[in-house]
Amino acid sequence: MNTEEIDLFECIPDIVKPICDKWLAIEQKNGYLSYSDCGKFLLEINQYGYTFDYGLDALPSFLRKLDTELNSVLAKEILEKIEINIVTCGSCGTINLHRKSILALRCENCDHEGEISQFPDLYD
Ligand SMILES: [Zn+2]
Repeated sequence: MNTEEIDLFECIPDIVKPICDKWLAIEQKNGYLSYSDCGKFLLEINQYGYTFDYGLDALPSFLRKLDTELNSVLAKEILEKIEINIVTCGSCGTINLHRKSILALRCENCDHEGEISQFPDLYD
């Protein structure tokens, strides 16, 4: 059985417990969560690398880890904002950084030189 098919709302991971508790308290205070509450709840959960489903009934279900690791999500967010990219050498695998404006690169580890397409993005 695929572990990702388990609904973690049945056994909430410690890292997202404070957020789940907060929204549970809101649900108890108001008697329900609105559709818009669920959206805010989901955004907060996303910050910790988790997600869940909810429909028009506004009942959060199927809490699970995001497929993409949080480090990768955050790295992409950083890289979108700066003019530097992080790549791996197509020859030796070493991580190299370069300005996005360049067309070719030389690996600092093995001296492999080539077009930027020969250096795959570390986070793609
Ligand atoms: Zn190299």
